Amino acid sequence: MEITQKAPAKINLSLDALYRHGDGEHEWRMVMTSIDLADYVSIRPGARKIRVSTDSGFVPEDARNLAFQAARILRQEAGINAGASIYIEKHIPVAAGLGGGSADAAAVLRGLNELWGLHYSQEQLARIGLKVDSDVPFCVYSQPALVTGRGEQVTPLGTLPSFWVVLVKPAISVTTARILSMVDYDQVLHRPQTDRVLKGITQRNFDLMVSGMGNALEDVTATRFPVIKELEQRLVKYGASVAQMSGTGPTVFGLCPTRSRAERVYNSMRGFCKEVYLVRPLRLG
Ligand code: ATP
Repeated sequence: MEITQKAPAKINLSLDALYRHGDGEHEWRMVMTSIDLADYVSIRPGARKIRVSTDSGFVPEDARNLAFQAARILRQEAGINAGASIYIEKHIPVAAGLGGGSADAAAVLRGLNELWGLHYSQEQLARIGLKVDSDVPFCVYSQPALVTGRGEQVTPLGTLPSFWVVLVKPAISVTTARILSMVDYDQVLHRPQTDRVLKGITQRNFDLMVSGMGNALEDVTATRFPVIKELEQRLVKYGASVAQMSGTGPTVFGLCPTRSRAERVYNSMRGFCKEVYLVRPLRLG
């Protein structure tokens, strides 16, 4: 038997970093949504060994792969000996701030939970996923959510206001760990107004949601890579209501309230960057 799980990318509508814990991890307050840009993870149960392969030259196929780590940790938790063959069809740009590795890890947790007959709840899978990466608990749910703590507190937010997303991935490589190590809490971070974002979502008010958006890590990445601000300025110039970086970057995105506006922004941005996507937030259900 083989099952295929969709593993959607995420964007951060708001990303706030509050402080660093004693162990070096960060305390987050973020509003996240999955989008309809996804990897496909096919899983077959097997004897003992966990194997990962992928169609991407940029993703490791060994124990460094987050999908592999998810399978191994789930197996340990369950106290079983089972194996699995995992194949990842990669569509999410790698090391882009779009949470591709975490999405694959969450897909493996959901898939193996079914194939190995473990009957873990979503809450249990999210707790196990946290051991792989702070974005995995969110990806287990894959619905609009407020994410706090080290990533383990995921509060679903229901349906978002209607909007389209233009994603732009510049051809530069950003290492998440390096950006996070550079965050200096003694400096003033440009924080989002997350409460406004939440209010906008509750009221399904796009303009209110947009008025509170921001990413506290943006200046850290953009100081090293000025192209991030340049692309954001272009997104707004061509008609996006707001533009910001996702995660630790380098992907930036613009939001538009209508499809026609988003198409105009998308077509204009393709003149400046090879990797541009027009997507929507993933619908609930
Ligand atoms: P983060 O969630 O840490 O912000 P990201 O979204 O920026 O990460 P990913 O695409 O998850 O980026 O990749 C980050 C690194 O993780 C890459 O350098 C890659 O080598 C490694 N990696 C491990 N497993 C995967 C996977 N299944 N898909 C993509 N990258 C993976």
